Amino acid sequence: MKKIYFVGAGPGDPELLTLKGQRLISEADAILFAGSLVSTAAMMWAKNSCEIQDSKGMTLVEITDWLITHAIDNAKVIRLQTGDPSLYGALIEMVQALDKEDIAIEVVPGVTSAMASAAAAVETLTLPEITQTVIFSRVEGRTPMPKGESLHELAAHHCTLCLYLSITLLKKIKAELLIAGWLENSPIVVVYKASWENEQQIIRGTLASIQAQCKQAKITSQAMIIASPTLGARHWKTLKKSKLYDADFSHKFRKANKSK
Ligand code: SAH
Repeated sequence: MKKIYFVGAGPGDPELLTLKGQRLISEADAILFAGSLVSTAAMMWAKNSCEIQDSKGMTLVEITDWLITHAIDNAKVIRLQTGDPSLYGALIEMVQALDKEDIAIEVVPGVTSAMASAAAAVETLTLPEITQTVIFSRVEGRTPMPKGESLHELAAHHCTLCLYLSITLLKKIKAELLIAGWLENSPIVVVYKASWENEQQIIRGTLASIQAQCKQAKITSQAMIIASPTLGARHWKTLKKSKLYDADFSHKFRKANKSK
């Protein structure tokens, strides 16, 4: 049977690959990896005989042609994607081309860069009574945003925003968030190359300051922008505690402490 695996490589640190992803890489006969963002270290488990190709510089048709050519019976062929394949990864365009050739597909999820960035900065994206919602989005650049998804509309929820592919658009982000009623001193965290050893940078600022800070740090790509009312909660003096761990709150596994 002909089959292609789309494997999420995670944000960069090879140890953030899933066990399944690691096993598939170690068994692969051919791997096409997504250029600049997939750590070559992720391929350290590949067999010597495995054909490894960088897709940087390839068009989508060249990518699918490569996959189709390599998908011979019983060969293990992997398209290694950054983070999780279902986010900003052109997954369906590739899958449709393979469906036409009757090639089976399996997708293996990966740790997306939003999660790796939150982890790097020791931030939570949800916090009781602050926000319980996370939006993964991007700002309109050359790719138009669908109706109803402009940043000021999304930001009107005042929930957590994780913005991919938008580090060159910080000026626009500021303008849109201000329209949505965020304050100039709203905290923003930018994480450059989350989980990349010796390269990761965490920039903490505000809506007013973050653009200049990123410019000074020369961050122009491979960065996640997190805007959230939860940022910095580690240093807050008072927190609304999660009900799940509250001594006065009963749930399936624990009775409330009635003596209080
Ligand atoms: N599928 C990927 C996203 C691909 S789009 C995922 O799930 O993470 C590429 C964008 O992802 C970049 O512009 C950047 O915003 C973000 N990104 C990818 N790797 C990153 C990393 N290690 N640190 C911070 N942002 C990253």
